[in-house]
Amino acid sequence: MISIEEALELVLAHLPAKRMEEIDFQSSLGRVLAERVIATGNAPVRLKCVGEIRAGGGLVLRIGPGEAAAIMTGAPVPEGADAVQIVELTERSGDGQYVVIQKPVSLGANIAPMGCEARAGETVLEAGRCVGPAEIAVLATFGASRVKVYARPRVALIATGDELVEVEDTPRPGQIRNSNAYSLSGQLRLMGLEPEYLGIARDEKGELRRLMLDGLQRDVLILTGGVSMGEYDLVKEVFEELGLQILFTRVAMKPGKPTVFARKGGKLVFGLPGNPVSTFVSFENFVRPALGRICGFARTELPRIKGDLLSEMKQKPGRTAFLPAWVEWEEDHWSIEPLPWKGSADIIGFSRSNAAVIFPGSRDCLRRGEIVEAMLLPDFVLRSRGSA
Ligand code: AMP
Ligand code: MG
Repeated sequence: MISIEEALELVLAHLPAKRMEEIDFQSSLGRVLAERVIATGNAPVRLKCVGEIRAGGGLVLRIGPGEAAAIMTGAPVPEGADAVQIVELTERSGDGQYVVIQKPVSLGANIAPMGCEARAGETVLEAGRCVGPAEIAVLATFGASRVKVYARPRVALIATGDELVEVEDTPRPGQIRNSNAYSLSGQLRLMGLEPEYLGIARDEKGELRRLMLDGLQRDVLILTGGVSMGEYDLVKEVFEELGLQILFTRVAMKPGKPTVFARKGGKLVFGLPGNPVSTFVSFENFVRPALGRICGFARTELPRIKGDLLSEMKQKPGRTAFLPAWVEWEEDHWSIEPLPWKGSADIIGFSRSNAAVIFPGSRDCLRRGEIVEAMLLPDFVLRSRGSA
């Protein structure tokens, strides 16, 4: 069994190289720029010629928008002019009335620098920047209608278990509805990823193999269930038979201990434990950070806060536990209220939380009033608005 930190380090050490793609700038919301965006000027542009300024001559000209004047080296720049282009990059019309500036000229070019938000050639968005609405405005301003961003990974999802039926079916005795495929799909969609759900694999090697081979056509394959110690928990065995390199099979966390991470070629494979809260917590600890980096983000781990614990919590020591809580900002500090919870199958109890207390494996009791750490859930902002 390895620690959460060691497990995450292993996951991050085996990420595939990032791919780039060029997309329409409006589609780049929530994406990460793979290339910097440079301020551009407008060219060619046709300006009205309003005169000629010689070095040493008296200055009477004023230049307005859309106007230009021929200026000799050493002459003072007239009022209203904001840049000078070299004559070689311009073309006068036959009658001398107009001049075409063939190449964009940066603001202040060839004259003493002047203050401005961005000059042509200057970087306005660095590579690695996440595109939000403000960045969309910057792209629009500089006419960057196509942008290079990091490609999103293609993700496949497989649920496993003989007892599972689909949402529209009525479970017979001994059966339950598959919910993990849908919570995982929601977690992925909150990251802007649209997973391909391949269905439920029965606890049978042939069917697992067939669905896994299909899933391995994508960049990342996520399975849920079938990784515990039971006789019909066949996921790890099939991983081995398919030649996957298994990097870990147990992590000192609760819930989520039997999390499996494997790879084949550049493909990543996560075998998440079947209990609904285990699958959720395991995804947030390992799958989210990996997928986020593939998308080009520096880090996408859930934010953590520290605050006042409102009531005592007890746990058997040994593994780091993630326990549902409601956290609230109280003027100058966070309050953290543990919620009633019946364990890793209790997705109803967990669904009432907006955060998870991180209960250290070295402790057996967290006292009321103690400062403890909590991880905000991915949809924290939405959840914390409360219900009408
Ligand atoms: P497993 O890891 O396959 O032994 O599953 C552990 C527990 O999670 C069992 O009680 C399963 O019935 C349950 N479980 C497994 N997969 C799912 C799923 N897709 N949706 C809801 N519960 C599941
Ligand atoms: Mg199972």
